[in-house]
Amino acid sequence: MYPRQFEYVAPSGLDEALALLDDNPGAKVLAGGMSLLPLMKMRLLSPELVVDIGRIGGLGDITDNGDTISIGALVRHAEVASSSLIQAQGAALAAAASWTGDRQVRNRGTCCGSMAHADVAADQPVAALALGATMVAASSSGVREIAAADFFVDVMTSALAPNEILTEVRIPKAGAGAGSAYDKLGRRGGHSDYAVAGAAASVTRSNGSVSAASVAVTGVGVRPVLAGAVAEALVGSDGSDAAVEAAAAHAVAGVEVLEDLYGSVEYKIHLAKVFTARAVKAALAAAG
Ligand SMILES: Cc1cc2nc3c(=O)[nH]c(=O)nc-3n(C[C@H](O)[C@H](O)[C@H](O)COP(=O)(O)OP(=O)(O)OC[C@H]3O[C@@H](n4cnc5c(N)ncnc54)[C@H](O)[C@@H]3O)c2cc1C
Repeated sequence: MYPRQFEYVAPSGLDEALALLDDNPGAKVLAGGMSLLPLMKMRLLSPELVVDIGRIGGLGDITDNGDTISIGALVRHAEVASSSLIQAQGAALAAAASWTGDRQVRNRGTCCGSMAHADVAADQPVAALALGATMVAASSSGVREIAAADFFVDVMTSALAPNEILTEVRIPKAGAGAGSAYDKLGRRGGHSDYAVAGAAASVTRSNGSVSAASVAVTGVGVRPVLAGAVAEALVGSDGSDAAVEAAAAHAVAGVEVLEDLYGSVEYKIHLAKVFTARAVKAALAAAG
């Protein structure tokens, strides 16, 4: 199917792109196009104007800021997956990017686009949540920072205003004794495709116990969410398999789990617990 007719612009500067969004309230930002174009072709979305940000300079870098790492709006999934910096400092996000879609999708789609699209079963948003990422959004009024915990609002709905561009996802570097991991069951089995259910975990060990933990689940409700009760149960524990299994039992506490084409509520709850335990164990192993 073809999309409805639309205007296309590819500004070379961020200010120009932001002014276009101000002047055209129904406009959509185009990054990798891996989610926007299918929606337009299916006519689920018919913007009158598409603002392609692909020619804007300065948005394509992964930057080491000292305590944090910035992932610019045009950084592709494949670049996140293969970045030795992100593998070392935010392994959950690198794994999530490496299991996003297929090779073509990973070479076109962007990490920021994945956050902005906010699919209920996406991979990288849940890693951003567990890692405590910050989303940096620009508009003609200035720049604001949004904690990942406040960013994913509802089904395919983020906290971004229509006239904002997500210019950067910023993740804190893993400190001493910290590790993170992501694991999922993909819709095509293994790690392929969107998550039927998945979990990301970030943990810190000190003096033989878990001193900090952050865990999030995807694919089970209307948005990726932090599993606060899992983190609470982990902190202060010895991080043994028994402690992890007991904590993972809380994976969907407070979440309204929804059935979809890929699994019943019971199956999703089961998977969320299984993948929470796996992600936490892998994160603990990485933490040393
Ligand atoms: C065949 C296929 C398989 C896929 N499999 C997976 C999978 O397994 N796991 C997974 O998580 N995802 C999967 N995806 C989705 C893929 O990861 C997309 O790349 C991603 O969701 C969107 O990134 P994009 O750069 O392509 O964004 P686009 O398609 O360009 O945009 C998507 C949405 O985000 C907005 N947007 C994009 N960038 C910005 C920005 N910087 N600021 C503000 N708004 C912005 C757009 O306006 C649009 O609403 C798959 C897609 C396809 C086509």
